[in-house]
This record gives sequence, structure tokens and C-alpha cells, in this order.
Amino acid sequence: MNNIKAQYKAINALLEANKGKSLTVKLMAELTVLMSSKVVSKSHISDDNGNVVAVFCYYHKKWELVEHIEYGSKASTKSGLNTMCKVGVNQWTKQQKEFKSEQTQILADIVNGDLSSENAKVLLEEANEYKTRVIPIDDKFQEYSTDEAPIVMPTKKVTKKVTKKDPLVDDENDPHSNH
Ligand SMILES: [Zn+2]
Repeated sequence: MNNIKAQYKAINALLEANKGKSLTVKLMAELTVLMSSKVVSKSHISDDNGNVVAVFCYYHKKWELVEHIEYGSKASTKSGLNTMCKVGVNQWTKQQKEFKSEQTQILADIVNGDLSSENAKVLLEEANEYKTRVIPIDDKFQEYSTDEAPIVMPTKKVTKKVTKKDPLVDDENDPHSNH
């Protein structure tokens, strides 16, 4: 394949890499991101209109399509969305809470003489492992999350020079510029 247009090279590469496999839903999800995205950062991807398409979920450690996997909003992030999907937030909170209560219990048992320090060490390690464990998202959402960062077309316009825009106009307040 020689004459692949520049803007389709990434798509072509993705298809080549998956040659022989059937076009899985997962691949389709990646392609959707690829085809609709322009801006990519380490944590989220937006389309041409600035709408966030995918977020790298801090809990699940996967790229998730926000159209299908729910995210709460958060003003302080660049994407305007939370850094973890809602399922992730709940799971993370639950694990932190259970870890703390387990820790408290272990300490109480030591104080009461019910637990040797050796056993306590093992239990604490287990508790810690549980705290940091990633419980995978429900199967029905798997197809909308991907391990690898979605391949994105190279944007040539990552420059220092702003050509068109008035530097005083804040991007966020950009009015609808439909003619
Ligand atoms: Zn998630």
C-alpha cells in the first residue's frame, strides 16, 4: 500500500496491525476515536469541536470513550471531566474506605494481643494490594475501553504561532463562529 493519504496513514497502520483479525468492536472503538479526534493529550482526546471523545481513566488505566462510559464533570481539569469514570470513582472510593477500616482493625487486633506482628504484616500487605488493585470495568463497557492510547493523526498545527485568532480572545469563550 503506497498511496495512503497522509490523513489516513494512522488508520491504515491500525488496520495493517490487525490484519487477519476480524474487525472487532474494540478496533472499531479505536477507529472511532482516531477518525473523530484531533487534539490529543496524555489524559484526554477531543474532536475538532473541542468535545472530549476519550479520557485516560486514572482508575482503570485505560482509554475510555466518554460517549459510552460515564464521567462526572470537574472544572479544574483540562477536559472538564473527572480523571476517573464514575464506576472508577466509586470503586476507588470503596477500596480506600475498606483499606482504612481493615488497617484500623489490624492495629486494634495488635493492640489487643489478638494478632502477631508477623501476621499483621501479611494482612497489611494484602490490604495494601487490595487498595491498589484495579477491578476491571463491567464486561458490557469493555468494548469502549482500550489499553493503548488511540493512534491519532499527527497535527501539524502544534505551533507557537497563533495565526488566525485574536490573542485576547479566550478559547473557552469563543462564540459560535458559523459565518
Ligand atoms: Zn474507568
